Amino acid sequence: MHTHDEDARKLLDAIVAYSRERLEMDPVPLDGPKALAELDAMVPKTVTEDGIGGLPALKLFEDTLAQACISTDHPRYVSFIPAAPTEAATMFDLVVAASCIYGGSWMEGAGAVYAENQVLSWLASEVGFPDGAGGAFVQGGTLGNLSALVTARDVAARRREADGKSRPDRWKAACSDEAHSSLAAAARVMDIDLVPIPVDSSGRLNGAEVEAALDEAGDGVFAVAATAGTTNFGIVDDLASISAVTERRGLWLHVDGAYGLAGILSPGHRDLYAGIENADSFIVDPHKWLYAPFDACALVYRNPELGGHAHTQHASYLDPLTNTDEWNPSDYAYHLTRRARGLPLWFSLATYGVRAYREAIAGTIDLAHEIADEIRSRPGFTLVRDPELSVVVFSKDGWTMDDYREWSKRLLESGDSFVVPSSHHGQPVTRFAIINPRTTKQDLVGILDSME
Ligand SMILES: *Cc1c(COP(=O)(O)O)cnc(C)c1O
Repeated sequence: MHTHDEDARKLLDAIVAYSRERLEMDPVPLDGPKALAELDAMVPKTVTEDGIGGLPALKLFEDTLAQACISTDHPRYVSFIPAAPTEAATMFDLVVAASCIYGGSWMEGAGAVYAENQVLSWLASEVGFPDGAGGAFVQGGTLGNLSALVTARDVAARRREADGKSRPDRWKAACSDEAHSSLAAAARVMDIDLVPIPVDSSGRLNGAEVEAALDEAGDGVFAVAATAGTTNFGIVDDLASISAVTERRGLWLHVDGAYGLAGILSPGHRDLYAGIENADSFIVDPHKWLYAPFDACALVYRNPELGGHAHTQHASYLDPLTNTDEWNPSDYAYHLTRRARGLPLWFSLATYGVRAYREAIAGTIDLAHEIADEIRSRPGFTLVRDPELSVVVFSKDGWTMDDYREWSKRLLESGDSFVVPSSHHGQPVTRFAIINPRTTKQDLVGILDSME
């Protein structure tokens, strides 16, 4: 099991060959899920006392299990938020896997942490944070949002204590009613209340609405979580006016840019994010629009010391790691052991340069606007809202939710594309989330044609 024998060499060759083949597939097959009973019928018992052997297990994965998973990097996967890791990022994920690096501490992973921190510093500077900003790559946006809010509450609790004030009856965080479900999940975990604030007619949260909601919410609010690119519509909240309010009230401003913050790299869209430089923390998911493999979220604090105060774990067996001045990624979020999951993005940035990212991201926004024009001019279709980033929401006149579901199922089963329905103000709609630079206008026009 731990020996480099002949069997291990054969298995290594097979694994490398499989990985190479998957990396070079063009196009990748869309594939799709199978029912539990179907898989039960196709897959023998694999976890046994004797094992079934590596090569048979790999074959089972290749022939059956992998094909029961949708390829999220397929160019006509335009549901939810797709994935589209670069060649270099995926390749380097293999290197990270082979290297057995503990990414939680400087002592054990200095070289990896150093490279990851170059990426975090670069993201911080794109956003306009001062030198010294930093954080960690965590598993995903859900964990990033939770970690930022935990830090924000810790800061507020310490401030109240310093001011001789008691704790509030309930801690509260405010966000828009278009904010991602992970904020409600964080609120449940933290046992706090969310103050939902309605978005304005352009779909964004603005400072005046925040101000009014905070006046109403009373004591206990410690943070406002704004969204830079809503998941459903790709709309960026009015960060400048919101940050004026949080600054005046001494509240923490967190920006959830899991999907949409990557759009700040497009030179023509930088202005949409004005005000983000005043935030206290932000997240962006490299596994979404920054073209890295699953699973990674960059969590960055203006003042990382505050994150460290909230999250550092203390125990005698950790003292050799914690009692140093060195940078330990474990300290900045709700986690301890961690994979050096920022390295694939680091390697890809080092390989292609930032400009290639700017161009790829701007290209997907351009495509979103082109297909929106197409939808607007097609009889029988309604564009629900002009796209801002790379999400296009539209409806087919007269279609019920069942029509969308049936159509969506047919497209997936035929291996053509993966587009799912959503809803807006109770009406069924569908959406194209475009992040894959391989997605073409023709791909999307074909999907529209399939609705005729
Ligand atoms: C995807 C998303 C999240 C959650 O991120 P995960 O990586 O899926 O946990 C949070 N906020 C927004 C705006 C998102 O689009």
